[in-house]
Amino acid sequence: MTAAPEKNDIGFFQVPHGTKTNMTLKETPTLRVHSIESFGTHDGPGIRTVIFLQGCKLKCVYCHNPDSIAIEGGTEYKIDELVEKVLKMKPYFGKNGGVTVSGGEPLLQAKALLPFFKKLKEEGIHTNLDTNGRILNNFTKELLDKYADLVMLDIKHMTEEGYQSITGMRNKNTTFNFAKYRDSSGKKMWLRYVLIPGMTDSPELLHALGNYFKTYKTIERLELQPYHKLGVHKWKALGWEYPIPDARENTDKEIRNAVGILQNYFKKVTVN
Ligand code: SF4
Repeated sequence: MTAAPEKNDIGFFQVPHGTKTNMTLKETPTLRVHSIESFGTHDGPGIRTVIFLQGCKLKCVYCHNPDSIAIEGGTEYKIDELVEKVLKMKPYFGKNGGVTVSGGEPLLQAKALLPFFKKLKEEGIHTNLDTNGRILNNFTKELLDKYADLVMLDIKHMTEEGYQSITGMRNKNTTFNFAKYRDSSGKKMWLRYVLIPGMTDSPELLHALGNYFKTYKTIERLELQPYHKLGVHKWKALGWEYPIPDARENTDKEIRNAVGILQNYFKKVTVN
């Protein structure tokens, strides 16, 4: 008999060691979707269908999709239905495009993502996972090892205190362990880092980020995401107080300076 999954101390379910993760479509027929963007050009290489899944355990102060945080909700899609949608877009993907699964936090639905990504790979479609990297269990390991061609990993902050003030949760090295696991698989990874004036943009933090990851072999690029206020109205619409009302957008000079520092450590630095 398989033991029931237990919640770990950061509030996520852990799959008991040795749990088999191979499953059929019948067992995991649906994904809860927040929204779908057919022609995405900001979430991975080329033209992509971006599927934003519903649910996230974090509450980042700058979240652009706060309406995707609630675990309940979203629209249930059968995996076959989603595959069909993607196949209609396949002619537009060209050489570099494909499918990105984002969120919310897609790995909360890792079990159902397995058959979805497996199907996409069978159809020869490039797969990309945009994640905060907090969940490393047998399901996510199988996704990382077998089916995710690319992982875009959000690095929220380089210190425990900073991570907690941005996300509301402790990190306890979960993101770093996730990065380490992906690197050991030898498969491609991009890091994403939101540059918030006064919170994440000090030279010390940027050097710490570079120093920490400079020996990683599978990081293809560091993608810097300037802070902007595009999501603020969504917080208001939810009746939530925007946590950093005084934050300002970066100046061009601040972005250039950050790129300059990070270029010492990463082979490619882009601004998205
Ligand atoms: S991890 Fe992403 S979806 Fe979740 S709260 Fe943070 S920014 Fe929003």
